[in-house]
Amino acid sequence: MKRSLLTYAMQLCLFTTVACSNVNAQYDGATDVPSRFREGFQSITEKDSKSLLTVLAGADFAGRGTGQQGFMKAAQWFSERLAERGFQPAGEDGSWFQFLPFNRTEIGVESTKLSIGETTVLSGNDFGVENYFGNFNGQLPVTFARVTKKRPELEDGAFSGRLLVVRSATRINANDVLIVKGRPACVLIVDRDSRVRSQSVSQLERTPGAVPLAKLGVTMANKLATASEISGEFFTEKNPEKNQLMTSSSEVDVHLTVEHESIDVPNVVGWYPGSVESLRHEHVCIGAHLDHLGLQQGSVYPGAEDNGSGSTSILQIANAIHTNAQKPQRSVLLMAFCAEERGLLGSKHYAANPLRPLKDMVCMLNIDMIGRNEESDKEPASENENTIHLVGSKKISNQLHELTITANKHVNFVFEYDQESVYNRSDHASFAKKGVPITFLFGGFTPHYHKPTDTLEGINFSKIANCARLDYLTLMLAAEHGHFEKNADDDAKAGQ
Ligand SMILES: [Zn+2]
Repeated sequence: MKRSLLTYAMQLCLFTTVACSNVNAQYDGATDVPSRFREGFQSITEKDSKSLLTVLAGADFAGRGTGQQGFMKAAQWFSERLAERGFQPAGEDGSWFQFLPFNRTEIGVESTKLSIGETTVLSGNDFGVENYFGNFNGQLPVTFARVTKKRPELEDGAFSGRLLVVRSATRINANDVLIVKGRPACVLIVDRDSRVRSQSVSQLERTPGAVPLAKLGVTMANKLATASEISGEFFTEKNPEKNQLMTSSSEVDVHLTVEHESIDVPNVVGWYPGSVESLRHEHVCIGAHLDHLGLQQGSVYPGAEDNGSGSTSILQIANAIHTNAQKPQRSVLLMAFCAEERGLLGSKHYAANPLRPLKDMVCMLNIDMIGRNEESDKEPASENENTIHLVGSKKISNQLHELTITANKHVNFVFEYDQESVYNRSDHASFAKKGVPITFLFGGFTPHYHKPTDTLEGINFSKIANCARLDYLTLMLAAEHGHFEKNADDDAKAGQ
């Protein structure tokens, strides 16, 4: 008997494992999804994850940089996908968008270069923005300088009519004695290559310096030094003991254009009305940041995982909500944030300027970087096929945490809780600070983090689809549950 009993048991587990191990499925050991959610749940497929992410991480959106064309195209495309999935525009003035003001300062790469004689030594992409915008053209002799914290004694106008190329152990700004007393005609500030940006997009209102200023990386500065018959390693050493000034015999021809404009960049905001009229004002927020690093120094950072994966999963959740016959009892606010990479600016802006009372927000479910298996020297990616970090879910409401655990029975992720250090590093933090219970699904870090190699290559589409399945169920259950009891103790405050 036993044996036959054994075969029956093996068949059963075989069936379930087969059911669970086909491409469109949850992880082993997952239990059946409650029938009232099944249709929507089953509309979430790996195939769909792949087709959506292929567009989001594609060349057309060029890494979705805040303040860049690529992001604006992605925001428009995202709003069209939401419309297809039955969502309503919930931004400003009946639009899909809530706009944030930014200032964009950018090197005019076409009209910026530096040449010696006929030779172009530096082209537009080699320059970075500093606290200046405008145009400068001039034929100048050059002074190369390495300065310490204790600036060199200078004659008045020591650098007038000259280009000053300077690396300093401490920050140089427009009020520096090198500039105020030296009065150079133009200044190129030398910094580590990784800190040179041809574009800056920020919300800071800065008064531009009067002296033409731009930035050069060490590599390009040494190239200019070599071309000017000064040592090719002049700028390599970080902190020299003493100030060094070298004047070059050759003149350079400088053309510098730095553009500046105020721009508006949108969060994308969609609304799906709840099925119970009396509860329709209460809403569950699901969100992910849509932006990434964009085009920097001529390289595109596609951001397939960061955060093309999260943006993909919330579109799949939108589709599941629209496909499933039974709609969420309370409404759904879906947000694709801008400027997360610039300091959570999009979500902070919404939390400070909510388009619906935050007191009616039942909880905020955030998804960021869920498209790869966590990988580090200590941990191979192969060990993280079905793991996910559930961050911050216990901080404000254990009830929400328990509900997420319940939802996970039908997906069966292995939850990890060892990344609370990122609690303040993604968009849920902006809502948690306002006391809204949150959960954060986070895949963990990999060697591709914030690199141009964060492409479609090596993306785990099953993890994206399963995050969508998990948060679809969490959302539907939360829309039934309503407001969550907040933890009595100061834990909530501790997380802030
Ligand atoms: Zn991110």
